[in-house]
Amino acid sequence: MTSLASTATASAGPIGVLTLTALAVTLGYLAVCMIRPFRRCRRCHGIGRRRSLILRVGRTCRRCNGNGEHLRAGRVVINYLRELHDKGTPR
Ligand SMILES: [Zn+2]
Repeated sequence: MTSLASTATASAGPIGVLTLTALAVTLGYLAVCMIRPFRRCRRCHGIGRRRSLILRVGRTCRRCNGNGEHLRAGRVVINYLRELHDKGTPR
């Protein structure tokens, strides 16, 4: 007679797999936001200047103010929450 205790495995099921995947993606994105808070500007591709449509004159990118970089959306949220925590409510 074989023992059934050794064959019992814990299966997560599809909801468990989805939850773990979402958790892994979220934690990975937060790690990226902590390590590299800035990303390249999509409009000027990190150059900081754009050519205007009509005269094709080079101008400073209005989206990134010529920096060529943007703060990631996740980092904006982290900074907001940190600022909210630092202000706090006096007790
Ligand atoms: Zn730009």
